[in-house]
Amino acid sequence: MSEQTPPPWQWDEPTWRGHVDRVRAGRSLSPSTWPGGARVAVALSFDSDHETIPLRDAETLPGKLAQGEYGARVGVPRILRLLQRHQAPASFFVPAVSALLHEGEAASYVEHGHEVALHGWIHERNTQIPAEAERELTLRAADTLERLTGTRPVGIRTPSWDFSPHTLAITRELGLVYDSSLMADDEPYELLAGGEPTGVVEIPVEWIRDDAPYFMMERFGSLRPYTPPRGVLSIWKDEFDQAYAEGGLFQLTMHPHIIGHRSRMAVLSELLEHISARSDVWYATHAQIAEYVLDQAAGTAPQEKTP
Ligand SMILES: [Zn+2]
Repeated sequence: MSEQTPPPWQWDEPTWRGHVDRVRAGRSLSPSTWPGGARVAVALSFDSDHETIPLRDAETLPGKLAQGEYGARVGVPRILRLLQRHQAPASFFVPAVSALLHEGEAASYVEHGHEVALHGWIHERNTQIPAEAERELTLRAADTLERLTGTRPVGIRTPSWDFSPHTLAITRELGLVYDSSLMADDEPYELLAGGEPTGVVEIPVEWIRDDAPYFMMERFGSLRPYTPPRGVLSIWKDEFDQAYAEGGLFQLTMHPHIIGHRSRMAVLSELLEHISARSDVWYATHAQIAEYVLDQAAGTAPQEKTP
């Protein structure tokens, strides 16, 4: 406590403005149309955390690890079958340790036409480790996923959406096309760093469109699921229907060890039936969406810098 840090009510304007401007939403990248004349883009994502949630907290007892193992053993095959039925490419965000524990799984995602993207090394909390450790783990995770799948990841989702003050610089150093950890919009946008455009696309997420807060349960704590699966279905249907009405993006985040259970897969299946009943839907990976909106923005941007 040698440095005197004033409390927020004493901050001067450059201080509070500086915090907000470090990483902020820039121009909207919402396109005027989706490929093939689709009215809505549907970005399904699965964070294949498996055992890494307990591992990153040094919870090494078999009980918690088995709950994660269920994701790989039961959840993933069910999810792949459902996606295949709907011909829906999706994005799988995979911690490198998870990919190494279940060798073959990450490659099988790519073989099924899905995307594999970054989700940390061992699901570490980026805001609780040194900047250099975050960088080294992210680079090592990128190399590991590339080795296992034959494809270099182009996107990142920070574990637990824990976005540190250094995450964006690491994302840019890796030359990634997009991030999917922030919540400033429903539609894709460009990230600003210190007020400057970065060219990095944000595919925004929200806890509303995440299975974890509805279903997680802690035996020895007060955390209990607060929404029945059919209640979640009704929220997600409304989210999709409004995205459809607006001609926008419907993005969903799920976890094989959470959504992969029978009563919840029944609900996900019903949701996809509801979506696929529309003929003008573009199921796409996060990478496909990021690349498409960047192309659209480049194609329609005014040529103001032409001499
Ligand atoms: Zn995760």
